[in-house]
Amino acid sequence: MNETKFFSLMVDLHRDGARQGPGGDAETLRALELSRLNPASVIDVADIGCGTGASTLALARKLQNARITAVDLFPEFLELLAARADEAGLSPRITTQKGSMESLPFADGSLDLIWSEGAIYNMGFAKGIEAWRRFLRPGGVLAVSEITWLQPDPPKEIRQHWESEYPEIATAPEKISILERAGYDLLGYFVLPSSSWIDNYYEPTEARIRAFLERHDGEPESVEIVEMERQEVELYKRYQDYFSYGFYVARRR
Ligand code: SAH
Repeated sequence: MNETKFFSLMVDLHRDGARQGPGGDAETLRALELSRLNPASVIDVADIGCGTGASTLALARKLQNARITAVDLFPEFLELLAARADEAGLSPRITTQKGSMESLPFADGSLDLIWSEGAIYNMGFAKGIEAWRRFLRPGGVLAVSEITWLQPDPPKEIRQHWESEYPEIATAPEKISILERAGYDLLGYFVLPSSSWIDNYYEPTEARIRAFLERHDGEPESVEIVEMERQEVELYKRYQDYFSYGFYVARRR
C-alpha cells in the first residue's frame, strides 16, 4: 500500500478517537506530578505528536497558566483538537502547529516542558530526546511515553515482532541510561496499565471499525488496515506481561 493511502486511512480510522495511542488522563496527570512543576506557574509547554489532543487538554486543565503548543503532522487531528479546546474554553492557551517532530519551530531554551505520548517512536527515542533537548531551558522537563520491555527475555514471537517494527524497544534501565547519557536526570518512571491500551485505545478503535469499513467499501487497503490493527491487539493481549509503554519524566541538566 502506498504511504499516502496508508496515512489517509489511518487518520480516518483514528481521528474520532479521544486518543490515537495507549494512554489515559490519570496517567497523564501522574506523569505531570512526577515533573514537580508548580501547576500555577506561567510556563511554555509543547505537546509533540499530540494527535487530537487528549494529553494537551488534560495538561491545559491542570496547568492553568501554561501556554501550550500542540504539534502534529496531520492537520485533520489538529482541527479536532482546536474544536475540543474551544468547547472546553481552553483555546486561549492552546496553539496548534502543523509540522514534523524532526524540525520543530521552537527557539533554544524556550520551553519549560516537552510532552509526548506514544509518538516519539516516529523519529526514534534516542534521536528525539537528543534533538528536543535544546528547546528546553536548563531545568526544563521532558515527559515521554515509549515502548518498553517489561522483562529482559521476552518470547521469540513478540521479540521478532518488535525487532522488525521498532528495534529501539528496550528495558526501562536501558532507556533511562540513554536519557542520562543525553543530558537528562530521571525524575520518575512508571508503566502504562492495561486499561490504557484496552479500555482507552483498542476497544474504542474496534467500535469504529464497522463504520470505517463501510466508508471505504471496496477498498482492499481498508481491510488490510483493520487486519493489522486486530493483529496488534492480539499480540498485546497475548504478550502484555512483556511490553508496554513506559512513561519517562526527566529534567534537562
Ligand atoms: N499523543 C497522541 C497521539 C499518539 S499517536 C495520543 O497519545 O493520543 C502518534 C501521533 O504522532 C499521531 O498523531 C501522528 O499523526 C503523529 N506523528 C507521526 N509522525 C509525526 C512526525 N514526524 N511529526 C509530528 N507528529 C507525528
